[in-house]
Amino acid sequence: MKRLAGGLLAMLMLTGATSPAANTLDIYFIDVEGGQATLMVTPTGESFLIDAGFPGDGTFASKPGDPAQARDAQRILAAARDAGVRQIDHLMLTHYHADHMGGVIELSQLLPIRHFIDHSAPSAEAEVGVPGTMALYDAYVALRARGTHTEPKPGDRLPFGGVDVVVLASAGEVLTAPLAGAGQPNPACTGTGEPAQEKTENPRSTAIRVQFGAFRFLDVGDLSGAPLFALTCPTNLIGTADLYLIAHHGGNDGADPSLFAAVKPRVAIFNNGPRKGAQARTFATIRGIPTLDGWQLHRSGNPGVENVADARVANLDESTSAWLKVSASPDGSFIVTNGRTGQSTAYPR
Ligand SMILES: [Zn+2]
Repeated sequence: MKRLAGGLLAMLMLTGATSPAANTLDIYFIDVEGGQATLMVTPTGESFLIDAGFPGDGTFASKPGDPAQARDAQRILAAARDAGVRQIDHLMLTHYHADHMGGVIELSQLLPIRHFIDHSAPSAEAEVGVPGTMALYDAYVALRARGTHTEPKPGDRLPFGGVDVVVLASAGEVLTAPLAGAGQPNPACTGTGEPAQEKTENPRSTAIRVQFGAFRFLDVGDLSGAPLFALTCPTNLIGTADLYLIAHHGGNDGADPSLFAAVKPRVAIFNNGPRKGAQARTFATIRGIPTLDGWQLHRSGNPGVENVADARVANLDESTSAWLKVSASPDGSFIVTNGRTGQSTAYPR
């Protein structure tokens, strides 16, 4: 508490000396080369991190090591410093794959993590699909035991300052009733949707909708297959959102236009790598919606891909590791800043 009080005092002195702190929810889409690490910070400095990237030097085979050398944990630390936060108040792991949970051990050695949110344990088949999953999970369980722990069900609310965070799906279950204001039939639904490219952990991803005033952000992790389709087909259970982090890094199993038709995002972000995620059909879906801007964490070299304009790509090659930062206001307007160029695009309410 002493450190917190000191931090608050320092913050008050700083804000007293300059203009009042901006009343924005800031969201950093951190470049973890095709994994996920998304840091949200409220106007009062409360932090909520969704996933922690890869371990070590950043591959599925990497092991957690020296946090000073940990590629993704260091990138998360840099974003935390930019946001002025000194601890992770809430960490949500969408699911147990190394590109999402891998960096958590090293990150915990750089920043204290207080509250852990997850869907309990990997499915029995996860180790077969991605060897090493159980070893990472066992280390995570030991870490998790040092903080508070929540295993939410669809429909539950997660604590996060004055921000409304509602769980849409987790452990393969999805909402059974529409959120307030949702529930419309979705005429864009056809068939049963895209099959999941990975069938063990991805369809068990924990998905959330974040609401700050009139602004909404949809993050479904790697949710894919039947649970993703069920969110907006045949009925839109989740309503609309201004900002959407495209399911499964923008892979073709996140390309079904029916979700975009229901959610009506104004900006959709690919958290892709140079070869990971970001497949051609998803780009085609996005190009087919004139009111939607796509933004990418990386220019993609995948076959058949037509990347968005360079100004909306954070990293054109491997020489940079820039983030995309979204600053959202309660009136629903938001600004997207490309960390590589420093240039911002404003989206009015
Ligand atoms: Zn992933």
